[in-house]
Amino acid sequence: MGHGPPLLALHRYPGLQRDVAAFVPNFRHPVELKPLRRFRCIRFLNTVLVAPSEAGYSHAVAGHVLSSGSQSALREANSARLLAAVRRFGGITQVELADATGLSPATVSTIVKQLLVAGIVETRTTTRSGRRAQFVTLAHKSGLLIGVHIGSRALRLAVADSRFEVLTSRTLPLPPDHRLDTTLDRAALLTMELVDGLGSTTSEILGMGIGLPAPVHPTRGMILDQGLMKGWADVPIADVMSSRLNTPVAVDNDANLSALGEARFGAARGILDVLYVHASYGTGAGLMIGGEIYRGTRGTAGEIGHTLVDPQGPICRCGSRGCLDTLVGAQALIDSLRISRGPLSLGDVLELASSGDPGCRQVVSDAGAVIGVAVANLAMAFDPQIVIVGGELAQTESIFLEPIRAAVDRRVLISGGSGLEVRQGELGALAPVQGALAMAADLTHIPGGRR
Ligand SMILES: [Zn+2]
Repeated sequence: MGHGPPLLALHRYPGLQRDVAAFVPNFRHPVELKPLRRFRCIRFLNTVLVAPSEAGYSHAVAGHVLSSGSQSALREANSARLLAAVRRFGGITQVELADATGLSPATVSTIVKQLLVAGIVETRTTTRSGRRAQFVTLAHKSGLLIGVHIGSRALRLAVADSRFEVLTSRTLPLPPDHRLDTTLDRAALLTMELVDGLGSTTSEILGMGIGLPAPVHPTRGMILDQGLMKGWADVPIADVMSSRLNTPVAVDNDANLSALGEARFGAARGILDVLYVHASYGTGAGLMIGGEIYRGTRGTAGEIGHTLVDPQGPICRCGSRGCLDTLVGAQALIDSLRISRGPLSLGDVLELASSGDPGCRQVVSDAGAVIGVAVANLAMAFDPQIVIVGGELAQTESIFLEPIRAAVDRRVLISGGSGLEVRQGELGALAPVQGALAMAADLTHIPGGRR
């Protein structure tokens, strides 16, 4: 049999492959097959040892599995150290792994083989300084999910595995009134860059979810309103991205996705009837009814930012007069501080409010009171189990949340005394991205996507 153990291509032995798959969890080939005289077959740290026989390998495996009791603690520790390095670097060659972990190249090679068989890492051949090298990455054997949030002023993108573990993410600033073509270009390029950084290819992408700060038509996957995102209306965004990345893409409103994100992974886990309020540059709401996002016929369900609060108020971007957003949108908050404070960004206002600035506190708190009335009205009509508050304004915590609670307590009276709970979101700015990941999983019908 020569010096080292032979590496056999298992697909040449269909019977053996089936048998090995039955007892090696997360089996993937090639499996290292080691000849062993005494035992016909033994499972040892996911290395399959078999005796070659005239009748073929499949005979040698079936029914002759011995479990190993000799996994040393040292080996476990080395394995954990190596895995930590692979995670830290995303992708790394075996030679670099030896440097990074202080383990010998031979030990690295052994552990990598074991992790490969266990389905924990993947390897491919690459070149480093003109020499062949084994490039090691974490296994994404069930593929990658991409969650994107195209906000008013930032693009957030996360790459997760199918268990929703975020492997890498990035946030890029966006200019005001950013254009559809350049923003989608950036999202596609960033996707390729992040996936590439994981040592993966875009062919491993199972699906992508995109959140947008405007109502999205539930079946056509596009924005219908001309005023809310200039130049974005009537473009089939899902189709554009889908053909660019060759993967299924779904698009939804960011408040809907935040509701989905908080319901799957955050503050509303396990709750079926959820009213999510997103208070950011504009105000929106996501309605989850019986565990499903309710989008409405044209996708405008939950658009509380464009409900009437002042019949004599200014004209809104949407064309109506006196919308909630004309009072509490970022522009309105900033404008109300301009005379006393000069030009501030929304981030400045929120930071100053949190650090105790009385003027900024009052602006945020007053916005909470006004949004609270809209939330109370919606809660009265729709009777959720809980209200989750997210978006940038929620980062000021009680400054913003207390006036909402007060408004809800004052108005939602017929609930029989037990007040409606108003809770801060747990996912923060990542709520729409997390929801987009959940939507991407639903799209691909992978297990665990839909609960
Ligand atoms: Zn409006």
